[in-house]
Amino acid sequence: KPRVIPRDQHGVSRKNISQAALKIIKQLHEAGFEAYLVGGGVRDLLLGGHPKDFDVATNAKPEEVRRLFRGARIVGRRFQIVHVRIGREMIEVTTFRGHHDEDLNHTRNEDGMLLRDNVYGTLETDAMRRDFSVNALYYDLKTFSIIDYCGGMEDLKKRTLRIIGEPVTRYKEDPVRILRALRFAAKLGFALEPSTAKPIRPLGNLLLNVSEARLFEEVLKLFLNGSATATFNLMREYDLLQQLFPGTDEALKANEPAMAELVELCMANTDKRIRSDKTVTPAFIYAALLWPGLQRRYLQLQDSYTPAQAWNQAAQDVINQQLTRTSIPKRFLIPMREIWDLQQRLPNRLGLRALRLLDHPRFRAAYDFLLMREEAGEPLDGLGSWWTHFQGANDEEREAMVRALS
Ligand code: ATP
Ligand code: MG
Repeated sequence: KPRVIPRDQHGVSRKNISQAALKIIKQLHEAGFEAYLVGGGVRDLLLGGHPKDFDVATNAKPEEVRRLFRGARIVGRRFQIVHVRIGREMIEVTTFRGHHDEDLNHTRNEDGMLLRDNVYGTLETDAMRRDFSVNALYYDLKTFSIIDYCGGMEDLKKRTLRIIGEPVTRYKEDPVRILRALRFAAKLGFALEPSTAKPIRPLGNLLLNVSEARLFEEVLKLFLNGSATATFNLMREYDLLQQLFPGTDEALKANEPAMAELVELCMANTDKRIRSDKTVTPAFIYAALLWPGLQRRYLQLQDSYTPAQAWNQAAQDVINQQLTRTSIPKRFLIPMREIWDLQQRLPNRLGLRALRLLDHPRFRAAYDFLLMREEAGEPLDGLGSWWTHFQGANDEEREAMVRALS
């Protein structure tokens, strides 16, 4: 009973499919297994895009997949996936998921969250276990047709993101689907179908049950996919900032326009950089996201500490609060602190200080951050353009600029 869309009625062509994915599917077929292309790859091909990653679904068990490919590795805790590396490409191969036996209550916790998901099934049950209808379209390389169990083709045409099954149950099973809903809606420019959208706000607190590490990974996907602005707006619209960035939420609700502006500018810059293939570092994004909370905390502490102590304490408090929601790996936490601390140091330019700051490994990021603060409307008294001039000046001019300050 799936809808089968034959090759002459859809726009997917094999030319745009990764060689590695094709090879894996062919080899699975030769070994007697079923195998299909599925997920974001098929979705993006149908939308006319150039997918960056491809997923394969098969009835071969993880162990059987691993044995077929030299570059295969079984990964995953909640459910096992096989990563198959061919050349420079990495393809995720998943075994068809099955239905959950309603009697096996012990595979869910009291909030309805799935603790284990390793029941195997058929192509049909696999479709039902996927998150959104547009993510549950299979491309069959044997017939070149698309197999659609969940109305994904209709939803693609209507540009609608629809969760599969009963929305509340599906969000409870895995609250990260809440964030995935916003991510895909933002990235694809799709509307959230009403019953998909409705439970999001009331169920937002379920995100508190997701591990800090997984939430950090999801946050990166939310803000590094070229649609950070749209995603951030949706997060505010659905009031999810409070679960992911509680300090930011409080600060923005206190209604400091320059603070919201800073975060929005950071999102816009991130999108622009990604569109022009420039690198973006999570350290910079986190520095901006947590900046409103940092400013607020700093003000609160100012009466009881010296400025330097208040700054350190505020930074520590904001970081500690954030770590209860998303982890921040050290490789991002340290540069984030450096970007912050340099904001304190950039106004102090006397003597050789300005020259030394130029040599700081984090100067460039800190300077970009300073310009963003200025653009957001923080009263910085021309500090950003001073630094712009200073960088372009020769030795003599630099000396004069510093002398003019005292
Ligand atoms: P992207 O373009 O970000 O890669 P994607 O749709 O491929 O988007 P993945 O995270 O790569 O997303 O997951 C691949 C597929 O696995 C999805 O399309 C979906 O069918 C399924 N899937 C992923 N995460 C979940 C989840 N939490 N619950 C149900 N199905 C999921
Ligand atoms: Mg994918």
